[in-house]
Amino acid sequence: MSTNDPAGRAPLLVTQPLLPDLGDFETLVKEIWASKYVTNHGPLSRQLEKSLALYLDVPTAMAFNNGTIALLAALKMLDLPPGSEVITSPVTFAATAHAVHWNGLRPVFADVMPGTLTICPDAVRKAVTPQTSAILAVHVYGSICETEALQEIADEHGLKVIYDAAHAFGAAVNGRSIAGMGDASMFSFHATKLFNTIEGGMITTPRAEDAERIYYLRNFGIKNEEEVVDIGINGKLNELQAAVGILNLPLVAAETEARAALRARYDGILEGLPGLTLQPVQKGVRRTEQYYPLIIDAARYGRSRDEIYDELKAAGIFARKYFHPVCTDFEPYRGFPIISTLGTPLVETVKSQVLCLPFHSSVDEDHLATIAGVFRRETLRRIAV
Ligand SMILES: *Cc1c(COP(=O)(O)O)cnc(C)c1O
Repeated sequence: MSTNDPAGRAPLLVTQPLLPDLGDFETLVKEIWASKYVTNHGPLSRQLEKSLALYLDVPTAMAFNNGTIALLAALKMLDLPPGSEVITSPVTFAATAHAVHWNGLRPVFADVMPGTLTICPDAVRKAVTPQTSAILAVHVYGSICETEALQEIADEHGLKVIYDAAHAFGAAVNGRSIAGMGDASMFSFHATKLFNTIEGGMITTPRAEDAERIYYLRNFGIKNEEEVVDIGINGKLNELQAAVGILNLPLVAAETEARAALRARYDGILEGLPGLTLQPVQKGVRRTEQYYPLIIDAARYGRSRDEIYDELKAAGIFARKYFHPVCTDFEPYRGFPIISTLGTPLVETVKSQVLCLPFHSSVDEDHLATIAGVFRRETLRRIAV
């Protein structure tokens, strides 16, 4: 263990996996061992899918071995013209753009909105060309995209809409689950996500009839012993990980509550400090307590994001610069423009200002005192003089 924290405590990381009781897991593992049914759409993965369809209020919820493969399969399902353009956000994990590329499609990056940092509908509208076939929007940090505006643009131009909902498990707008919006949504059940199966993912859609196609895409296109009917991939979730999911799902509510309480504490520490923008409250939105992002404007706050990051790190608190660098900074996408309604895309300004604070139920009072000390100390001294 690192002891760079003055108190000699273990470092506090930005996320911590939600894990079930080991005894409960052992019981399910024994059942799996006894049945010898360890993968290939086994009873536990089917049970998990049913629970998730109910939980997220969608007719189709298909479990996958990870979110990236789920996104690959979701894009494949849409049968977009080869080489066509998919408008997406650069403020995301690299997998979003990679999934577009792996499907033989071209990612086109559009600017984001202030505050939520979700894709900006006006920028999307500007990015549409005759080659555009879809919009791949990201509910980043658990904030929700402008779903109505995006759907309007899509309807006008005959585009598909697909959501990277890796950060948005359980989110809803005016009581309507985001999992049923657009043509499909992808969820990640990676250990860092609020609901996790260690590694895992899912496609949800608003149409019951999509389940069969997704089933084939998930399983090499195999229909029966003699027929392969689609160009599928191996996206199956195994029974051990499905068991983790079955046991974790009932724990999500308490973890969400703990994180909501932590959010209120962070807000209390940070509100009123000049130059800090907190994650906005969106009207009618039940967000996911996935991340606690901050935007730090050094000119007004007095210290930069990188200075705060370093000071926290020196105190054993490991925040993350999500998402920095952004996708267009990565080698495969370098030189791809960010279509914007501004002279300089907001992404280019904000990427050096974003910071996610540790956000899970193990952040305690000592951690909060340390974090408050780092954020308030010099700023208050500066305001006082
Ligand atoms: C985690 C994540 C993914 C990838 O999911 P995996 O399950 O790790 O493959 C994709 N997009 C976003 C925004 C993510 O945070």
